[in-house]
Amino acid sequence: MKTKKLLAALLLMMAVFSVSIQAQQMPPIPVDEAVRIGKLDNGLTYYIRHNDYPEHRVNFYIAQRVGAMQEDDNQQGLAHFLEHMAFNGSEHFPGLGILDFTRSLGLNFGGDLNAGTSFTRTVYNVSNVPSTRQSALDSCLLILKDWSHGLLLEDKDIDEERGVIHQEWRQTTDAKERMDTRQLKNIFPGSKYGERMIIGKMEIVDNFPYQVLRDYYHKWYRPDNQALVIVGDVDVDYIEGKIKEMFKDIPAPAADAAKVEDYPVPDNEQPIFVVDKDKEQSTDMILAMYKHDHTPREAKGGIDYLIMDYAGDIASEMMTQRFQELAQDPDCPFVDAGCINSTFLWTNTKDAFTMIAMPKEGQAEATMQLLETECRRAVEHGFTETEYARAQENYMSSLESEYNERNKISNHHYATQYYNNFLENEPIPSVEQKYQIMSMLLPNLPVEVINGYFEEVVDPSGRNLVVTCYSTEKDGAVYPSQESLKAAFDKALAAPVEAYVDNVKQEPLMAQLPKAGKIVKETENTTFGYKELELSNGVRVILKKTDFKEDEIFMQAVQRGGESLYSEKDWANLKLYDGVMSMCGLGEFSRNELNKALAGKQVDVSASIETYNDLVSGESTIKDLETMFQLTYLTFTDVRKDEKAYGQLKNMMEAQLKSKDQVPEATMSDSLTYVLSNRDWRGKPFNVENLQEVDLDRVMQIAKERTANAAGYTFYFIGSFDDATIRPLIEQYIASLPAKKGAKSNWVNVETHPQGDNVIRFERQMETPKTTIQSIWYDDKTPYSLEHGLRAQILGKVLDKVYTQLIREDAGAAYSLMTMGNATLEGDRPFALLLAYCPIKPEFTEQTIEILDNQLIAAGKTIDATTLNEVKNELIKDHESSLKENGYWMRQLINYVERGIDNVTGYEQIVKAQTPETVAAYARHLKEAGSKVEVIMTPKQ
Ligand SMILES: [Zn+2]
Repeated sequence: MKTKKLLAALLLMMAVFSVSIQAQQMPPIPVDEAVRIGKLDNGLTYYIRHNDYPEHRVNFYIAQRVGAMQEDDNQQGLAHFLEHMAFNGSEHFPGLGILDFTRSLGLNFGGDLNAGTSFTRTVYNVSNVPSTRQSALDSCLLILKDWSHGLLLEDKDIDEERGVIHQEWRQTTDAKERMDTRQLKNIFPGSKYGERMIIGKMEIVDNFPYQVLRDYYHKWYRPDNQALVIVGDVDVDYIEGKIKEMFKDIPAPAADAAKVEDYPVPDNEQPIFVVDKDKEQSTDMILAMYKHDHTPREAKGGIDYLIMDYAGDIASEMMTQRFQELAQDPDCPFVDAGCINSTFLWTNTKDAFTMIAMPKEGQAEATMQLLETECRRAVEHGFTETEYARAQENYMSSLESEYNERNKISNHHYATQYYNNFLENEPIPSVEQKYQIMSMLLPNLPVEVINGYFEEVVDPSGRNLVVTCYSTEKDGAVYPSQESLKAAFDKALAAPVEAYVDNVKQEPLMAQLPKAGKIVKETENTTFGYKELELSNGVRVILKKTDFKEDEIFMQAVQRGGESLYSEKDWANLKLYDGVMSMCGLGEFSRNELNKALAGKQVDVSASIETYNDLVSGESTIKDLETMFQLTYLTFTDVRKDEKAYGQLKNMMEAQLKSKDQVPEATMSDSLTYVLSNRDWRGKPFNVENLQEVDLDRVMQIAKERTANAAGYTFYFIGSFDDATIRPLIEQYIASLPAKKGAKSNWVNVETHPQGDNVIRFERQMETPKTTIQSIWYDDKTPYSLEHGLRAQILGKVLDKVYTQLIREDAGAAYSLMTMGNATLEGDRPFALLLAYCPIKPEFTEQTIEILDNQLIAAGKTIDATTLNEVKNELIKDHESSLKENGYWMRQLINYVERGIDNVTGYEQIVKAQTPETVAAYARHLKEAGSKVEVIMTPKQ
């Protein structure tokens, strides 16, 4: 910290804390006392915390301080390979024992049981373990122990996994990854970061000798590089005792054991420009990164670290706001841009102030010039008092929400903080402590502190600047070069810049309040625990008060009708409806003015349209509830056309749609939707030329039609509202909405699906060749019931396991597949489906098509009882969690009130009642009575 302004502020701050010490010694950040931290003699660290949210669930983690950066040249990709092997046989869980055991607890692989490898860390987890069985918790500790020290790494298992990793590379390598791989050396000159990618090299993955992987494991997976994190509904003393007993015999590292090194990223005196292009890059993208020093681990303990973090967040927020404002200018060279102050890409030794921009076609240079100009403007003239006041209000308001929810923090949230503490020494104060420190500090941190910090980390001369510019490769495109970007940068550097002027509207959202109406009738529903109100203007209101969260209120207003009431000539207008609604002004405020006026408020209201429904959705905290009501009132009565904001939306859509067809997955999903809609206009792919058909005035007119009669809507409120507070607000803002009592709109059934078997097969050019198969079996005749829906879900989950076993594990032909089943209503019509999504090795196309069909037929004959039980446990466990979520209840209340569907009562009994016979019968029914759409996309040779 060199800047005088920043230092002055820190000294001032220390006076607040009445600490008289040298400037170098900041008051320390306290450590949350509720977490038990300890270390065994062999060097293993542990964090244990009791947490009741959610009840009866525990998460287990082991974090390794090593990743791809620790690989030798002949081990490239093996840190990640090893992560896969952790699920393929260990001392106490041979074979697929870990998967089998966790499935028996109702956990699912990929979600509850998972792992992730990065450049500098590898973290494994078993999450949402039911805490009711002590023996299950002990077994999870045993899994952590095996991960720490007991992997078998057998020849046969290694060989089987090569194909899976190869397929993961095929499935996950996208345009960005290809360009990063090509450009690594240029982005990180003189650093080991220039020589590593996590997925590694396929020639190594396919061929490495077994011992090379074992070497990595034994060299780096040691107790001194590991931390266990256990958070949840546990007895902390018991778990600590168990850890001491179970992990003490893992040997300590030898005195001469290799040390985990940090790999530095050198500074660069001259700006670095990196350009590349790829046929599947969906939009042009520029990252301009001003590198700055990373705070070393040992310097993160003082309050100055919190202040720097705050200053970085606030500066990037203010800069993002400026970019958002610029993007609304029709002449702005970029479609959208934003900022973040964080680590430099994926390193842990350098930080960067990063600007991300999506340039308009052919305007990469102009975008570069503008980014640099804005950086200089902020450094030379600083941010303004009014911008800062808004950013500070936003910060304080989210800090307050965090504080209000302090007793409802998830196990995963805590765990992430704890392993970040172990890996990077990130501070772990409690929410209360952080709230106290920051609310004391904030009034003493004037905008000069932020300006001082920004000046310190961003040197607009171009020192330490790294720019990557990735373009879409296509016919007729002109690409920027290193020279042209450098010339644009130099141009920005040479021109004078003026200070930013902040235009703010200092008016209330609503100058005059409407004449309030009344609640005229009230009834109670005991099945779903809600109150139903009828208002004087005919609007129906459903109130369900919950304590799932301390400070969360959801609103949903629903009316039947939606797109089903419009014809093909409004197709493009309907496609852009949601976007236009999110960018329009309200009352006297343009969208930009509205965004500024809502600073410091945790509130959001938006209107949207679905095939069969019109929606106005809202979300708010207790404190901002009235603002949510005002925004809702204005959405119904005073939506304002905002040409500027619409221009920005159009630019954004244009950039996305122009390159949509570059991405094979987009082509795939377009053709599936179209075929499934029976080639109806509603299912047509929306392309860039269709943008010209949108008529803004017509969209505004549709919006007026959809909100003209509030009495057609039912308003749902769920969450932690206070009954005495919300009722007057309902009378003031909802009972006063214009309405025609008794006149309700209704939907028209419009969706149809092709009957019989429909197989579409096509070839396309790809950068990384792979086949993708999507199969949907469906039944649009059998009436909807919860039992049918659950059978479809169970069948989906059972087949997911079968397909994964045959296609991924046995054949090594896929990395991840997805199969799911569900039943719902489209308008008044039932629609039950089973969907399988398989990206696979091209040479495995025909076998996969056969497996998909044959296994559905096989499921119609018999269902494996063990698998069925695992799936039933999983559904019941997930349902228990859902019952404590406001979002879940919102969906279920709407189903119940709008369509009379009760998806809650009897759920568990119905799941439990399912047998191999009932599910097999459902599979037969779907296969025989249903129809099928299958889309197969193969690479062009
Ligand atoms: Zn992987």
